[in-house]
Amino acid sequence: MVFWKRKREETNTPNSSEESSIEPSELFDDPSAESADTSETLDPSNKTSWWRRVLTKTNELLKTDIRDLWTAEGRLVDDEFLSELYAILVRTDMGNAMATKIKDSIYDQYRARKIEMENVLEIIRNEIGTALKNKKAPLKFADSGPTCILVVGVNGSGKTTSIAKLAYRLTRHRNKVLLGAGDTFRAAAVEQLKIWSDRIGCDIVLGEHGSDPGSVAYRTLQKAIAENYDVCIIDTAGRLQTQNNLMQELEKIKRVIAKQIEGAPHEVLLVLDATAGQNAISQAKGFSQAAGCTGIVLAKLDGSAKGGVIVPIAEQFGLPVKFVGLGERLEDLAIFNPEEFTKALFQ
Ligand code: GDP
Ligand code: MG
Repeated sequence: MVFWKRKREETNTPNSSEESSIEPSELFDDPSAESADTSETLDPSNKTSWWRRVLTKTNELLKTDIRDLWTAEGRLVDDEFLSELYAILVRTDMGNAMATKIKDSIYDQYRARKIEMENVLEIIRNEIGTALKNKKAPLKFADSGPTCILVVGVNGSGKTTSIAKLAYRLTRHRNKVLLGAGDTFRAAAVEQLKIWSDRIGCDIVLGEHGSDPGSVAYRTLQKAIAENYDVCIIDTAGRLQTQNNLMQELEKIKRVIAKQIEGAPHEVLLVLDATAGQNAISQAKGFSQAAGCTGIVLAKLDGSAKGGVIVPIAEQFGLPVKFVGLGERLEDLAIFNPEEFTKALFQ
């Protein structure tokens, strides 16, 4: 049986900044930790089925549309072929930069020669595989003392829901989890997290509407240290009066956390909405810089049939995609695995 529970060493002080990484790749293979729910929604424990669903359009473009470029065996690699191929690649949502990289690679290797479809697919697979290769990173845990995870992102991206899903996972794997309702800007946000915590059965530190989120972070960490929690997860606002205020506030929350536990926050997760356009992505860049993000949670991937969007997101942010959100239920969170993703692209 696999537990996603970090080791606790009783002799260590809670302030130790040493960190360890646990590979939770088998998180979904532990039947005792999974719900028996096999309803029609995407089931993250069935990797093949959810990949197939979120990659429907991307798969179709890569296979059917690319195949249509060949009317006879072998096709000459010329400007016409390259621009037709480029147009298809862009439509997969894998991004202009990746489409250009693939086009250039084909040009370099096959210029003025004939190419088969298998050669093209192989090059696509290699380029995407290389781009995502270093983007695999399991959740980081403190070696001793509470692990602190800060969650940031624009309003509506899916922060609070993702926190609930993550807390649920961790709780199911025998971690003592504490939530910090740090989005004090919206009254409903605190209430929303409280409802989730009741449902999960984990503890929460609440913040008054309009109160200082730094103080919520402070109280959450104090409680986590004093009462030996394994993990605390802190929610933040996605919007304030000005964007500038928000960035300053995130920096302040980070400083408050770092003062409590050296090396914390151990993770700063940026939640992105997979269905949002390029504008939302650029907006999120500000968060990434101000909060020093360490990983991405790509929420609402179930709302997109073009999961290819993971490629430009991972590339643009230079951050690993740690989790993907696949629905609104507590169970709808999966660990992102680049190898599985690259394989599933061509299934
Ligand atoms: P926040 O403002 O960033 O905290 O975003 P919320 O967590 O409140 O989520 C905004 C909306 O997106 C809510 O209606 C959520 O139920 C929904 N949502 C969040 N994650 C997912 C997901 O993975 N899939 C789907 N379909 N909806 C999601
Ligand atoms: Mg929220």
